[in-house]
Amino acid sequence: MADTIFGRIIRKEIPARIEHEDELCIAFHDVAPQAPVHVLVIPRRPIPSLADAAAGDEPLLGHLVLVATRLARALGLADGYRLVVNCGRDGGQSVDHLHVHLLGGRRLGWPPG
Ligand code: AMP
Repeated sequence: MADTIFGRIIRKEIPARIEHEDELCIAFHDVAPQAPVHVLVIPRRPIPSLADAAAGDEPLLGHLVLVATRLARALGLADGYRLVVNCGRDGGQSVDHLHVHLLGGRRLGWPPG
């Protein structure tokens, strides 16, 4: 697959405010935050989108979600938060490297735009 800006963040070729790193994933603050807390949790392995995830990726996907919930606790989102995975053009995905948005710190509207 084509390299993306997130690949460059993983390789530390460009800076990011990193909150968490482990052998499977990395989490960093979004450069254009849509809420007081806006962190992206991404797998080190560059799966382009949720639509490209396979059965064998179940543990990885679960890991991304659990890391996001741990970060929500660590970042003080005791009143709630939202996890979002945009998938494909209609889903609003702009970077073709699977990522989970963790959004919180304000009351979030519903339905999403
Ligand atoms: P999506 O639209 O779901 O693909 O989300 C991509 C997100 O990546 C957007 O919220 C962008 O603001 C964010 N983003 C793009 N480039 C960077 C970067 N260099 N560092 C941090 N976040 C970024």
